[in-house]
Amino acid sequence: MSLTALFNDKTVFSLEVFPPKKDSPKEAILPTLQQLQAINPDFISVTLGAGGSDHYTGTVSIADLIQNQLNIPAVAHVPGLYQTESQVLNLLDHLSEINVKNILALRGDKIPGKEPVGVFNHANELVSFVHKNRPDFSIASACYPDCHAEATGFVDDIAHLKEKVDAGADHLISQLFFDNQSFYDFKEKTEIAGIHVPIEAGIMPCTNKKQIERITQITGVPLPKKFSAILDRYQDSKLAMKDAGIAFAVDQIIDLVSEGVDGIHLYTMNHADIAERIWEATKSVFEAASQKKAEKAEKASNH
Ligand code: FAD
Repeated sequence: MSLTALFNDKTVFSLEVFPPKKDSPKEAILPTLQQLQAINPDFISVTLGAGGSDHYTGTVSIADLIQNQLNIPAVAHVPGLYQTESQVLNLLDHLSEINVKNILALRGDKIPGKEPVGVFNHANELVSFVHKNRPDFSIASACYPDCHAEATGFVDDIAHLKEKVDAGADHLISQLFFDNQSFYDFKEKTEIAGIHVPIEAGIMPCTNKKQIERITQITGVPLPKKFSAILDRYQDSKLAMKDAGIAFAVDQIIDLVSEGVDGIHLYTMNHADIAERIWEATKSVFEAASQKKAEKAEKASNH
């Protein structure tokens, strides 16, 4: 089932997990997934390291657990930079076998010192390839409210985003950001560019200093003053940092939902307890917003 229909009459809440380390059994993640199941998310996406085809079995088997054991729609991330056409088709065949037909098509993170294969240099090429060769797959793509770190500018980044949508991406999931104004400004740019697919806002609850430093270094996402103040004041207290990081994420989500965001994609970092606390603090807001959206959709269909 394509996930885009979900956005018609509700504010979507989705989660992201990563597979356990290569030498751990896939069952190692089951307790986390079962805890996340209680949240009843609209879908759960599973990351895949850009490194290549040899270790995609982790992602495929976790997607299998999510979709076929826990009955939650699964989305498999597919980075293309280090894959050949036949490797991508092989991965899609494995996903088809377990009836997972939703992917997040990505370029993938660059691995220092590793030469890309040279077939899918940008995500739009992968989107186009999958769209042509496996039209039964529904394809999401990534977007960047603070602009992609390697982009030659925001205008180019938005133009390349439009290429992904034109190539067949029917839903976008954003990179994490800490200042909602970045997302609202970005949304306006996408509308001007004629991008009209649902855009989920990516939210990462940051609950320790090291994690924040690593994330901002990798993504280049700026930290607003408000968040730096939290870091300065609470970095030495694990508990206070966790509470403040969760409260910050809850605040971001409530504001986004109130402003009519299509959906929230929560980067759980496999911390089910944090995801649960965030859901508990925001579920009434999702429910009320979804009810409004459903009423609007019904009114529109009666006209
Ligand atoms: P692209 O859309 O290819 O964009 C990359 C850069 O190239 C941008 O600067 C863009 O402006 C530019 N560009 C795009 N198209 C063109 C073009 N045709 N010509 C010239 N320039 C172009 N990485 C992983 O390895 N595994 C994961 O599981 C994973 N999951 C992610 C999930 C989400 C929601 C997000 C936001 C990112 C994820 N990433 C993952 C990271 C992602 O791979 C990186 O952010 C990567 O640097 C860019 O990926 P992309 O698909 O957005 O690339």
